[in-house]
Amino acid sequence: MIRKLGVAALSAGIIFSGVSTTTASADGNSQVNNSMNNGDKAENIIYMIPDGFNADYATNYRHYKGEPAVWDNHLQGMYTTYSADSNITDSAAAGTAMSTGVKTNNGVIGLDPEGNPQQTILEASQDKDMSTGLVATSTITHATPAAFGAHVDDRNNETEIAKQLIDNEIDVLLGGGKNNFLPESEGGNQEETNVLLQAEEQGYQLIENRNQLLEADINLENENLLGLFANDAMSPELHRDAEEEPSLAEMTQTAIDTLNNDEDGFFLMVEGSQIDWAGHDNDAAWAMTDVGAFEEAVQEAIDFAEKDGNTLVIVGGDHETGGMTVGANGSGTANPEVLHSVTATGENIAADLNEDRSNAKEVVSNYTDMELSEEEVRSIQEAEDPKMAINAVISAKANVGWTSTNHTGVDIPVYAYGPGADQFSGSLDNTDLPKIIADTAEIELGGEISQNHSEKETVYTVKPGDTLFEIGLKYNYLWTTLQEINQFPNPHLIYPGDEVYFK
Ligand SMILES: [Zn+2]
Repeated sequence: MIRKLGVAALSAGIIFSGVSTTTASADGNSQVNNSMNNGDKAENIIYMIPDGFNADYATNYRHYKGEPAVWDNHLQGMYTTYSADSNITDSAAAGTAMSTGVKTNNGVIGLDPEGNPQQTILEASQDKDMSTGLVATSTITHATPAAFGAHVDDRNNETEIAKQLIDNEIDVLLGGGKNNFLPESEGGNQEETNVLLQAEEQGYQLIENRNQLLEADINLENENLLGLFANDAMSPELHRDAEEEPSLAEMTQTAIDTLNNDEDGFFLMVEGSQIDWAGHDNDAAWAMTDVGAFEEAVQEAIDFAEKDGNTLVIVGGDHETGGMTVGANGSGTANPEVLHSVTATGENIAADLNEDRSNAKEVVSNYTDMELSEEEVRSIQEAEDPKMAINAVISAKANVGWTSTNHTGVDIPVYAYGPGADQFSGSLDNTDLPKIIADTAEIELGGEISQNHSEKETVYTVKPGDTLFEIGLKYNYLWTTLQEINQFPNPHLIYPGDEVYFK
């Protein structure tokens, strides 16, 4: 994309001025476009969430990279992240706040603390006939993407989330987690339903490798795109087979190209899912490389927004993970650039240890150019969890510190580019983000959840394992309402084969 822009700018320069003004003319033009559009309506929204990323990651990454990241120029403000029941949020409550504008309890997806479904910014975009997409490197049913297209009281119910994402007719779904769509009989996690078949019947084109993604040519009039590139989560960027598994940037590019065919505009959420997992493991090299993969995706989004002129790109983490520091252990300088020599996650390095861990020094040197001291070797050999010990040794060499293996409650910076970007300035709460997006794109957030999936059915036949609560969620009825309509004596006593009527 960058190269294409450069070539276009160069030829434009030659045609109009006869001299080579190079890429400066493209930059100049896009800046003019941008300032002209400031305060104007955004036609397209690209909401990018680096899970677990905060200013500490941003600073270490800048040193690691050796120059500013693509977002550094677009810093706007900061927001608080606390959830309804804790001053440290999880990804479900954070995702719900960032998608619906409503705080909820940790673990809850798309419902308020009382269990009432809340419309998400993605669903509100659908009501405006915008096309919609979700992209992640975790399972596509994981907390953050789920919070944009599903409503469940437990984030771990990924099989229900899979059904809801398809029922919700989200145009583009790209990520991992194929097993959550397949029935147990085919090695999946669904009790009985083959959600992939259901998706196909609904017009989804299914793809599962990088080539299919790069070749995807979807007509949104009658097709949708479901790309599931791994049974569970996709690979950390450190281990990704670049021939087989697409990068986050490639998924983002295909999603944008596909969604942009809709003249009503589009809403796309892209998550850099595994920055958070690196944080939980205190794995500095995994964190930097997954931030790098996320940055390339943001670059795709900004390149598109620069050319388009009517696209708002928002970048903001859902919370910080690991309590990372820039500098550690009394050091007077931080040197995350040494992490470039690390070629595997701590977990994968630890997997090569022998029974008595006598090969610790050798194993670490196989995946890094780091010489370990006797003390460091011993720390790995004696550790309860060798993975964490390896990560601690590597982080110490980079003077990257960690203060937790969980999320922390610190405020998060928000970056934005495009029409309305300056609306994100100052001191905000995470619930403000979807409200500002809605304002900027003239989307009405907070309405009824539309029932685009239930209009053909006025009666539902109970399947094994169904509860009235879940049926209610699926069809956007309170279970108490369904109990009343159907005059069930006891909502807990519904049986397979029973019919549930809707108004
Ligand atoms: Zn998170």
